[in-house]
Amino acid sequence: MTPEPPLALLAELTHRCPLQCPYCSNPVALAGPGEELTTAEWAGVFQQAAALGCLQIHLSGGEPMARRDIVDLTAAASAAGLYTNLITSGVLLDAPRLAALRQAGLEHVQLSVQDAEAGSADRIANLPGAHAKKLAAAALVRDAGLALTLNAVVHRQNLDRLPELIELALAMGAGRLEVAHVQYYGWALANRAALLPTRAQLDAATATVTRARAALSGRLVIDYVVPDYHASRPKACMGGWGRRFLAVSPGGRILPCHAAESIDGMVFPNIRDTSLHAAWYGAEAFERFRGTDWMPSPCQGCEHAERDWGGCRCQAFALTGDAAATDPACRLSPHHAVLAAALEEAAGFDGSFRFRRL
Ligand code: SF4
Ligand code: SF4
Repeated sequence: MTPEPPLALLAELTHRCPLQCPYCSNPVALAGPGEELTTAEWAGVFQQAAALGCLQIHLSGGEPMARRDIVDLTAAASAAGLYTNLITSGVLLDAPRLAALRQAGLEHVQLSVQDAEAGSADRIANLPGAHAKKLAAAALVRDAGLALTLNAVVHRQNLDRLPELIELALAMGAGRLEVAHVQYYGWALANRAALLPTRAQLDAATATVTRARAALSGRLVIDYVVPDYHASRPKACMGGWGRRFLAVSPGGRILPCHAAESIDGMVFPNIRDTSLHAAWYGAEAFERFRGTDWMPSPCQGCEHAERDWGGCRCQAFALTGDAAATDPACRLSPHHAVLAAALEEAAGFDGSFRFRRL
C-alpha cells in the first residue's frame, strides 16, 4: 500500500552542543562539524520536505543555535512554507538573534530544561550557569510573542521535582509542557542505571500530572505518557515507522526516526544522493518496518497492531539485538522480563553519569 505523505520533518542541523546531557538522544558516535550539510543543502531539504507534503519542520540538533547560519536556515524553512519550530537548549539565544529568527519566520520555540532547581539542572547539563541562561531565553521568547513549549526531560534524578517543573512552565508563560520520560537508547542507554525512575516516583508523577491537568485546564497543556520500562504495552513510536515523520541527520542521512542509526546493520539513504521523495516512497530502510507484514508473533494478528505498530524498533534492537522483535515494553513480548531486570539493576546503582561528548 502506498504510504501517506509525512507530516513533519526533524532537521538535526548539527550534533554540536554546549551541554552534555547524559540522556541525549543523539547517537553515541556523534557527527563532527565537517560532516554537516551546508546552508544550501539544508535549504534544498526544506523545499523537498514541503513538496513531499510536510507541514512542519523542527530545527533541532544537538543545539541548532550552534549553526552560524541558523537565521538563514530558518528563513529557508519559512520560505518553503513550513511551520517552523526551533528545539533549543536556549543557552545560545540572545535578544538580537531571537529578533532575527522571528524576522526570518520562526513561529514556535521548544525550550528544554534539565530540572527546576538550578544546581541540579546545571549538574545534569554539565554546564555551570546553563539554567539561568534558559530562564533568560524563556523571557525573551515570551516577550517576542512567540509560542513556547517547555520540554522537561524527566528521570530518577529530577522526577520528584515535577510539581516545580509545572510551576516553572507557568512562570515562563509556556502554553505547553512536555513531560518527556527519557527514552533508553544511545547515550541514555549508557546511563540507564543512573536514570531509570522507581515505580513509586512514577506513580507520584502520574498523580501530579492528573491533578495539574484538572487545575490548569485552559492555561497549560501537559503532554505525558507512562515510560516504557513501567508499561505493559508499548507506545506507537513515531506514530509507526515511516508513517508520519522523517528525520535528516547532520550529515544528511534520511531516517524514519531520529534514533534509527542506533540499529546496527541498517543502511539509510543520504540526501546527497537520494531525494526525500525517493527515500519516503522507496528506500528499503523505510519499507522495512512499515505496516504490519514484518511483525513477528505475538504482534501478528494482535488487535493492537495498528495502534502501537509493535512499539519502538530502536528499543527492540537495544534490548534484544533484533530490531524486528516485539518491543519488550509489551507484556506479551518474550523479552519483557529484561525491563524488570534493568529496574532492579538501577535500584542498586549509585554511580555517576557518562556525559555526552563529541
Ligand atoms: S539533550 Fe542536551 S546534550 Fe543533547 S542536544 Fe539536547 S541540550 Fe544538547
Ligand atoms: S503484541 Fe505487539 S501489537 Fe500486540 S500489544 Fe504487544 S507490541 Fe502491540
